[in-house]
Amino acid sequence: MHKGDEVYITRTGKFYHYFDDDCPTTSRILKGKTPARKIKEEEAIKGGYTLCRHCAKEYAEDLAERRGCSTAAIFFLAAGIGASFILKIFI
Ligand SMILES: [Zn+2]
Repeated sequence: MHKGDEVYITRTGKFYHYFDDDCPTTSRILKGKTPARKIKEEEAIKGGYTLCRHCAKEYAEDLAERRGCSTAAIFFLAAGIGASFILKIFI
């Protein structure tokens, strides 16, 4: 879940985080346990922050999942067309 280009930074951390509670730090921020503020991702990078490794991993997995889903959708569509074609032959 990567929404927009805003990210969280904490007061002490050197990393910025996406709004995805799979990241332990973001999860604490969302629960109000860690004070943080929202800034633009590009400003975080300019300010010397780097993407948290948990968030980077989740983001990469998100992208891979999305690719996997569209491939599966094409496969099922093709299978559906194939199945209806076979049915027509037999009916
Ligand atoms: Zn994070």
